Amino acid sequence: MPFPSLAELDAGDVPADGFPTVEELHVDLMELCRAHPDRITASVIGHSRLGEPIDLFTVAGGARTVVVAGGVHPNEPIGFRTIQHLARLLISQPDAYGFDATWHLVACIDPDGTRLNEQWFPAPLRRDDYYRGFYRPAPDEQVEWSFPFSHRGFGFDAPIPETSALMELFDRVAPDVFVGLHNGEFGGVYFYTNERDGALAGELSTIPAQFGLPLDVGEPEMPDLDVLADAVFRAPLTREQIDRRIARGLDDGPQAGGAGTADYLERFGTTTMIAELPYWVHPDAADLTDAGVSYREVIAAKAAALDELHELMGGILHAVRGALTIDSPFRRASAAFAVGMGAVAAAERARIASAETDRPATVAEVFGNTEAVRTFRLRFAGILRRALDAEVHAGTAAPVVRTALAELTARWEEWLAADPHAGLAPVRLNALVGVQLAALFATVRHRVVRSVA
Ligand SMILES: [Zn+2]
Repeated sequence: MPFPSLAELDAGDVPADGFPTVEELHVDLMELCRAHPDRITASVIGHSRLGEPIDLFTVAGGARTVVVAGGVHPNEPIGFRTIQHLARLLISQPDAYGFDATWHLVACIDPDGTRLNEQWFPAPLRRDDYYRGFYRPAPDEQVEWSFPFSHRGFGFDAPIPETSALMELFDRVAPDVFVGLHNGEFGGVYFYTNERDGALAGELSTIPAQFGLPLDVGEPEMPDLDVLADAVFRAPLTREQIDRRIARGLDDGPQAGGAGTADYLERFGTTTMIAELPYWVHPDAADLTDAGVSYREVIAAKAAALDELHELMGGILHAVRGALTIDSPFRRASAAFAVGMGAVAAAERARIASAETDRPATVAEVFGNTEAVRTFRLRFAGILRRALDAEVHAGTAAPVVRTALAELTARWEEWLAADPHAGLAPVRLNALVGVQLAALFATVRHRVVRSVA
């Protein structure tokens, strides 16, 4: 199957570590357009909430259309390197990688959010720097989760400008394939696709090993996911998620702000695929042996820890209510995630009583659930820290805000100091870019083969 080998990637232009800033990515791709004006062209598909242009780079080919978007979650920059390398492959080897399609590359769909993560982008990637500089938008400000929808009394109709820009692009080009370049954080590689295509799922499942990376076979991100192959899941549509939550007795609506990209793209019959890649790998994520504890206890411990996080964040936000003066993205995100942690805890607690949890846990499940708690604490309480810190640095922090920041910081630093993986070296970027490209090309090829057949 056609995809660049690790050796080819090593010989190419992907650095071993470090991510480009919004500015560096823009400059690099604009230079590519100037060097190859007959092959790749630049345009602007909209503007961010703060008014930053959103670049589109188009490599013209046949009637089929592929849309690829980087920066869909602004804390997931592996895709920026993938876009840079993909653009070069499409220019230099269109016969091998172009699939007779026209490729639309949205290099960075959320420049505002990306800039809030840039402090940890320079090499070397360290967990300490990552969590200190981490930002993830509130769900209703996440580009791929703020599409309009209405279902069973739940709905959303306020897409952010970045999402509107994507919607207009989709309406214009009716993509055959859409890939949002996400990545995970720690463990191994896993995939989502909207297609129940066993052949594609089987192929995706084999890709990480070819780049020396493990699959993540531990706790899936959501309960009730359909498993298509090892570490390959069908991504449920928003209306399906609502139906499932209602069926489980949870009536608090979808966890995202709006509907997802796959919901919007149903009208075009688009194939979607997501490759979730880790910055750091760990052998436990692929270990299916018995951990010697009950799965029920693992889930109960996770629910209790997330309840505690929910209460801690909610308590701080309550204490400083009325004293926060800056409507920062940090403030909106931490308020939303404080509520969200309670919802995740409730969903986990609802599973405890089911017969399905009455079994031994695997090492991978213990690892996944333990690291989920660690990462939620460091991520979301860390964003709240940044919200409070912004007030201190702007000179607007009342004493109650300073006190809250000092208390939260002490707790957060304890969590960080307890991270047993603090010194882990990151995965080589070449391997991550290789997996993302191979998965992308496999998806396009399966779609092309299917539409010919
Ligand atoms: Zn993501």
